[in-house]
Amino acid sequence: MSAESMQDLFVEQLRDVYNAENQIVKALPKMVRTASSEELRNAFEEHLEQTKGQVERLEEVFQQLGLRARGTKCAGMEGLIEEAKEMMSEDYEESVMDAALIAAAQKVEHYEIAIYGTLRTWARRLGHDDVAELLQETLNEEGEADQKLTEIAESMVNVEAAETAR
Ligand code: FE
Ligand code: ZN
Ligand code: FE
Repeated sequence: MSAESMQDLFVEQLRDVYNAENQIVKALPKMVRTASSEELRNAFEEHLEQTKGQVERLEEVFQQLGLRARGTKCAGMEGLIEEAKEMMSEDYEESVMDAALIAAAQKVEHYEIAIYGTLRTWARRLGHDDVAELLQETLNEEGEADQKLTEIAESMVNVEAAETAR
């Protein structure tokens, strides 16, 4: 495989994740409104702001590569968000809806962790070390967001277990 075609693949996937991040920015406000737990709402709000920063970080990546920031439709993210919307249209009780929202959000985070890890590695391989660092920063944020959701899910399980034991 020539270095040129690897570079093309890299740029295509950057455009894919740029579109994916923009889809998330649009989808998160409804998840904030649908969540009942204050902790979960705060986590979604925080990650919405963080995601806007990730969009800007990708714009910096395109700039460093001498490219115009442009997205191409990410069908994977479209599918994940479609599933989240289906869940939100169900008539779940509050704590069940929160569990559904966490599940949907963690699918999104894991998807992002997969692509940013790959892109970071490809950036290094292609000699774009500064770009690799930017992608690593976002990768770290996605990992922390995922971890935070796990903590919230576990604290909810504990609260429910305590209530059942009473
Ligand atoms: Fe993101
Ligand atoms: Zn995609
Ligand atoms: Fe994320």
